[in-house]
Amino acid sequence: MDNLFDLTGKVAIVTGSTKGIGKAIAEQMANHGAQVVVSSRKEDACQEVADSINAALEGKAGGATPIACHIGHKEQLENLVNETRSRLGKIDILVCNAAVNPFYGSMLDIPDSAFEKILDSNVKSNHWLCQLVLPEMVERKDGVILIVSSVGGLNGSAVLGTYGVSKAADMAMARNIAAEFGLHNIRANAIAPGLIRTDFARALWENSDTLKATTANASLRRIGEPEEIAGTAVFLASAAGSFMTGQTLVVDGGR
Ligand code: NAP
Repeated sequence: MDNLFDLTGKVAIVTGSTKGIGKAIAEQMANHGAQVVVSSRKEDACQEVADSINAALEGKAGGATPIACHIGHKEQLENLVNETRSRLGKIDILVCNAAVNPFYGSMLDIPDSAFEKILDSNVKSNHWLCQLVLPEMVERKDGVILIVSSVGGLNGSAVLGTYGVSKAADMAMARNIAAEFGLHNIRANAIAPGLIRTDFARALWENSDTLKATTANASLRRIGEPEEIAGTAVFLASAAGSFMTGQTLVVDGGR
């Protein structure tokens, strides 16, 4: 094998890939030869990011196709999977990246609606999407599932507790899929990023004092950039990660 990280010929869906970590993963998977589906709630944003990925490839292998999808709606997830199959033929790699966190504060105060939204979007939607793509992977005897979790799923938090519960569930989901479908040559892993400079985590890095306090315990003493998660995703999706399954990779600058 010439290049262990080559994804030429692979089709990858990346949810929430018009910004931040998902966008960096889509860009790098396309750079490594994959046909990626760029997805988020906004059709125009999907088109814009897919266009910019295609333009940057300058005729190299790989490519990007925009398909909008709100992960909270099962029929939109079904449409994402069906449209991908009809336009690109198959799904080799699924990256469950989009997630929400509508609440910051004590668990005593979280409204049921916010609790349910976090569990629905961060856990149930990933479960639905995996249910939709796994049968095809089983039939082909090949497939990779990546779930973007968080260090919040490993550490306790006084203010982001329910989000952490959902992200711990994502790690369990990756382990369960690995255990159940490994005999079909399907691998599933979770990635647990630390603090990454995206809109999602803006409240934790915009203010320089907050940023300093948040990164003080990290070996690298700094925030991460979205591109620094993309390499882990390419590794796990490619032949380079072919004996790796059921794991959670922490990528957090040594925090
Ligand atoms: P981000 O920069 O805010 O990007 C989120 C992406 O998801 C956007 O493309 C957004 O586009 C899309 N999105 C949001 N809600 C969606 C929905 N309901 N359905 C479909 N798409 C949706 O966020 P990020 O920081 O990259 O986060 C990506 C993942 O990394 C999440 O799972 C998050 O929990 C995890 N993570 C982030 C950090 C961090 O420090 N940033 C740390 C650990 C883990 P639209 O709004 O246009 O739909």
